[in-house]
Amino acid sequence: MSGTYLGMPAFPEAAAKSTQDTQLRGNLRHATHTIRAKRAVAVAELADWPQLRAAGAAVKDRTLRHLDHYLEQLETAVTAAGGVVHWAADAAEANRIVTDLVRATGETEVVKVKSMATQEIGLNEALAEAGIHAYETDLAELIVQLGDDLPSHILVPAIHKNRSEIRDIFTERMGDWGRAAPAGLSDEPADLADAARLHLREKFLRAKVAISGANFMVAETGTLVVLESEGNGRMCLTLPETLISVVGIEKTIPTWQDLEIYLQTLPRSSTAERMNPYTSTWTGTTEGDGPQTFHLVLLDNGRTDTLADTVGRQALRCIRCSACLNVCPVYERAGGHAYGSAYPGPIGAILTPQLRGTASALDASLPYASTLCGACYEVCPVAIDIPEVLVHLRERVVEGGAVTLRGTRAVIKPAKGHAAERAAMRAARWTLDHPATLRAGQRLAARTRRLHPARLPGPGRAWSATRELPAVPAESFRDWWQRTRGEGKNT
Ligand code: SF4
Repeated sequence: MSGTYLGMPAFPEAAAKSTQDTQLRGNLRHATHTIRAKRAVAVAELADWPQLRAAGAAVKDRTLRHLDHYLEQLETAVTAAGGVVHWAADAAEANRIVTDLVRATGETEVVKVKSMATQEIGLNEALAEAGIHAYETDLAELIVQLGDDLPSHILVPAIHKNRSEIRDIFTERMGDWGRAAPAGLSDEPADLADAARLHLREKFLRAKVAISGANFMVAETGTLVVLESEGNGRMCLTLPETLISVVGIEKTIPTWQDLEIYLQTLPRSSTAERMNPYTSTWTGTTEGDGPQTFHLVLLDNGRTDTLADTVGRQALRCIRCSACLNVCPVYERAGGHAYGSAYPGPIGAILTPQLRGTASALDASLPYASTLCGACYEVCPVAIDIPEVLVHLRERVVEGGAVTLRGTRAVIKPAKGHAAERAAMRAARWTLDHPATLRAGQRLAARTRRLHPARLPGPGRAWSATRELPAVPAESFRDWWQRTRGEGKNT
């Protein structure tokens, strides 16, 4: 993924630092609680929400099962409509394709619609190396770019900044990137939006090339769909002469009718709106109307490998609504940067280790960035069982085993640093396989329960420092059953 995330520490170290930042925690708490409360109201308005949720999951699952078919259908339709389709196996190939396409236009500037996929592959950094300036036009992405920062939320990338911090960034940095902020800029939202509008307008009017992602790709007609709230996407998608869209292959849906589900669930689940303000759709090119050259870069970058995992593949259903972030107690306290990826929060904890693998300390730590409380699953509009995938990935980290890497089956070794966990699990497995030993151990634990320490010794010390150990009962369930119902038989 992006070079900007390279070298970031494992989640526990990053979170230990970010949780000390009271300003950050205050900003996150206020923002996530506000969005989650509004979302709950918007979702409750739809009596058929459970059915929409199930339908959204089913359509995605069916599409993923036949993804090869739908991608070929999409390519045929895009090509027939005047677009050019490129296939990118990984981030390096996608960056090379986009850089070459921009170079071929002779331009050194591009405007960008907010795009997680381009953040994932580090496209801005790759373009900068080639001498091409990429200007983010989404307000929050603009704040992040001007502040030399990284996004920390899927929907609100600058959620960690409050409005006075944004005012300072605009005042200090806008002039370096184009039109400067007005003198005496206040931190009123309307004034900040005005400053951004004026700064961006000259870029929209000047740019000859735009780069976008897409929320959905409709295979039957080759149509791409972007949902947004500010109108910056509409400007980028209509004014420039050349449009390059970089989209993950899992964003494909078969038909326009399928889109009907997500146009109801995505706005309510993300911004708590009944309908998002701007829904832009485009199909190839149209003479005299909009960009005259259209390129679609279909990005794999670990998605096919993810698809090969029958438990983990459900992460590819994600429609990036961010509802799981807004209810996650870990995200609320640690913030998005601690996840070291374009995808923070619960979805990042299951998607990133599948796209990038679990070889690095950071990626191996992500499946543990959760309390497994299940709130993320409850709110997910496509019913991704995030806790199930987290546990599945923890097993992969601790035990290693067979995975698919770049389309080939491989056996990965267990990650470093989980020896105690592995030994405990093996001991538990052996004990559960030997009922007589288990029974003897339970009786011994019951008889000595008054002698048990309040904290675990050794490697368990940190775990038990913030938790109460469960009390051992005077009698085990097995013994109770045998005494009261078993009539002396060993049942
Ligand atoms: S995992 Fe579900 S809740 Fe989280 S961003 Fe994706 S679709 Fe939304």
